[in-house]
Amino acid sequence: MRKFKNQSYTDFTKGENRKAMEDAIAKVESGLGKEYDLIIGGERVKAKDTFKSYNPSNKGQLIGIFQKADANLANRVIETAYKVFETWKFVLPEERSRYLFKAAEVMRRRRLELAAWMVFEVGKSWAEADADVAEAIDFLEFYGREMIRYGSPPALPQIPTEKGELEYIPLGVGIIIPPWNFPLAILCGMTSAAFVCGNTVVLKPSSDAPCIAAKFMEILEEVNLPAGVVNLLTGPGAIAGEILVAHPKARFIAFTGSMEVGLRINEVAAIHRLGQKWIKRVIAEMGGKDAIIIDSEADLDSAAVGVMSSAFGYQGEKCSACSRAIVVEDVYDEFLEKLISKVKTIKVGDVKDYGNYMGGVINENAYNSILKYIKIGKKEGRLLCGGEVAPGDGYFIKPTVIADVDSKSTIVQEEIFGPVLAVLKAKDFDDAIKIGNDTIYGLTGSVYTKNRAKIKKAKKVFHVGNLYFNRKCTGALVGSHPFGGFNMSGTDSKAGGSDYLLLFLQAKAISEKVS
Ligand code: NAD
Repeated sequence: MRKFKNQSYTDFTKGENRKAMEDAIAKVESGLGKEYDLIIGGERVKAKDTFKSYNPSNKGQLIGIFQKADANLANRVIETAYKVFETWKFVLPEERSRYLFKAAEVMRRRRLELAAWMVFEVGKSWAEADADVAEAIDFLEFYGREMIRYGSPPALPQIPTEKGELEYIPLGVGIIIPPWNFPLAILCGMTSAAFVCGNTVVLKPSSDAPCIAAKFMEILEEVNLPAGVVNLLTGPGAIAGEILVAHPKARFIAFTGSMEVGLRINEVAAIHRLGQKWIKRVIAEMGGKDAIIIDSEADLDSAAVGVMSSAFGYQGEKCSACSRAIVVEDVYDEFLEKLISKVKTIKVGDVKDYGNYMGGVINENAYNSILKYIKIGKKEGRLLCGGEVAPGDGYFIKPTVIADVDSKSTIVQEEIFGPVLAVLKAKDFDDAIKIGNDTIYGLTGSVYTKNRAKIKKAKKVFHVGNLYFNRKCTGALVGSHPFGGFNMSGTDSKAGGSDYLLLFLQAKAISEKVS
């Protein structure tokens, strides 16, 4: 088998690629507004009620109509997954992996179409949407290979009287709850990791990105994944929390989303229910308040580019987004000047158009919440740019930079999850690290400096799950940057790394006496 290699990105500066994406966008747009069903045991099922998904960059544009599952359907889907587990768990690892490789092949073929769906449903720019599909393909290729590796674990040290072996076996029914912001990559990564390990899945996507989940299910059907291995249940978050997570037949929960919901899931899952034979395993990857430190010995031009793209790529709606720039005072004014001149070039508008770098934020609640934080921020610091809505028919907010903010202020401590960057002044490098660690989160962080001693120090004391030097703090690659955070950023699952599948497996030690 070929060695794992990351999928390269589509180069949209090339005319033929731009034309292909325009065609994909036109094709997807002509298919918007359809109704999608739940998929339970391979069967298409309707619920009593439905809900709708809309385009955040063109508020009136309907993306699709989706089933609002109720408690009965939630119970039914778990029972189905529980039954199918009895056969799926015995399918050999290589065979399970093959479904992932085939799905990766389909995604490569449908790459721009899938990206176009994300342009419409979640407001990703072309480049961001393309990177999301590339990451999904990487997860499939990586976890497929990883399962084959776990399928043949290294031999145990042997004792003369026994033959011993260790086998990794699946856990059972997994509840997979992804966020909307990497609606294909994270959804595909968590789901495929779960089922390649021999578990069956109830997939409950975010109500802000149900259409991408439906497209993912189409792909699993296209590769003939047996019915009921992955089941799709759309509906309110509360169904996921109070029925699926609480169900005694749920064996594990893989969640990626906000800290509040992650903590609630952890709490609900911890309660032992009647008939439950295990302690549920919870994998919870949560929010961030990620910082980039700009040292006095940094390349300021490169730092300005890194901060700009980390803070405003995909409207700042990444768990890894830079929401705090911590700048050592010697270079504070010079850095800000460089940064602001770059931020002012950002174009905000409908991301259907290639020229727009930022689209609408995901929905009205997010829009109002971000604007509320901007209002608070204007009192807590000095507004340098943005700070208001941008024109157009989407949830458009201008990229906003607020300087001279104190580390204890609201906009520095709370996750805003939008295009708002707080800039803090540090006395020196040590002070910058101290400020960097002054948060309940610990997901990503980056340091711009040319000084080796400072790099060495930051490696030891900057407490984040993904630490980068002289580059942006977003854009983790499957394989090279196993991803996951410390503290309130989650359980540090290291998605896309070689420890990840262990979270979906349990080891069975077997020993036979030899005569
Ligand atoms: P969210 O917590 O609102 O929702 C996440 C998922 O949980 C959705 O599918 C939602 O339907 C479901 N949900 C909502 N209420 C629930 C409940 N009571 N019980 C069970 N499930 C429930 O998060 P979001 O708005 O979709 O995503 C943004 C958040 O995700 C941000 O905080 C971001 O930092 C975080 N995130 C973290 C990572 C990471 O790897 N650490 C990656 C991406 C996003």
